[in-house]
Amino acid sequence: MAETSGPPRAAPIFERICLIGVGLIGSSIAHVARHKGLARTIVVSDASSDVRRRVAELGLADKVAETAEAAVHDADLVILCVPVGAIGEVARQIAPHLREDAILSDVGSVKNAVIAEVVPFLPQNVHFIPAHPVAGTEESGPDAGFATLFRNRWCILTPPPEADPQAVARLAAFWSAAGANVEIMTPAHHDLVLAITSHVPHLIAYNIVGTAADLEEVTQSEVIKFSAGGFRDFTRIAASDPTMWRDVFLNNKDAVLEMLGRFTEDLTALQRMIRRGDGQGLFDLFTRTRAIRRGIIEQGQETAAPDFGRRKAEPNGE
Ligand code: NAP
Repeated sequence: MAETSGPPRAAPIFERICLIGVGLIGSSIAHVARHKGLARTIVVSDASSDVRRRVAELGLADKVAETAEAAVHDADLVILCVPVGAIGEVARQIAPHLREDAILSDVGSVKNAVIAEVVPFLPQNVHFIPAHPVAGTEESGPDAGFATLFRNRWCILTPPPEADPQAVARLAAFWSAAGANVEIMTPAHHDLVLAITSHVPHLIAYNIVGTAADLEEVTQSEVIKFSAGGFRDFTRIAASDPTMWRDVFLNNKDAVLEMLGRFTEDLTALQRMIRRGDGQGLFDLFTRTRAIRRGIIEQGQETAAPDFGRRKAEPNGE
């Protein structure tokens, strides 16, 4: 294990936290845990030796373990920060090595599928409390993380009904101290809400950027040149990590297909309004959607400053 030192910490919520996977989210948790003194010791591991080396160089953790099995040793909080498709395999690897009474959590963007993957390996006396910090950028990797990523963003916990309330409260305290607002809901509800607020918007962005790239009548250079017309905002979302988003769609199939069905119906209605020249219908819809944007700003999830996609690496709530 490579050891690196950091500033002194006070009043930790956990003695030893372990993060498996140190990309955007894992490294951001490491930053904020260190910055706010949320754990006495931070141990991390990642499947990639390049990532482990980089994490040691950046001094993100007290210990960088070669394997996930070694990393979880004696940790009272273990957070799986790997792509959704890898969570089950990591759970299988670490399960026999988890400390009794440890809290096992994750940050996966999908909850039902993650729970189904983890539960079969869960030892007794380990508290499994799934979580999803609804915060992100289109960047990935250990250099992308920063301590304020979770500030004023939501972190959704989906504890099973039989979860120990003290363990839930401790994990909630960790996320609150990291700057997040904590909400508790069922995994099924989480998956439905995130399908419409995050997953389908990403699919639309991937689709529109893909369509533009395929257009033969419009050249690639024109797509870039005139991108300020709205296209640029989609390209930011469509630049998101391909592994992460492949796994999201494969693991939240039902909710995404349900929301996509509604979206397609509404798109067809819009198509009809345009064909029939229904200006009033278009105007009414656009007025309603503008009010939604204002609501998001009022709730502090976005600033009112004009942006046009120009700010650098702003958290976008994915
Ligand atoms: P990321 O930047 O790509 O980091 C994931 C890290 O996990 C990578 O270093 C990856 O290594 C490593 N990894 C992959 N498989 C592993 C395994 N079996 N064992 C150990 N390490 C492994 O991804 P991220 O954006 O931090 O996302 C991580 C999780 O957070 C995902 O479940 C995602 O759904 C969730 N999430 C993401 C966002 C967001 O906006 N990005 C927001 C909220 C939640 P390699 O690169 O070598 O594969």
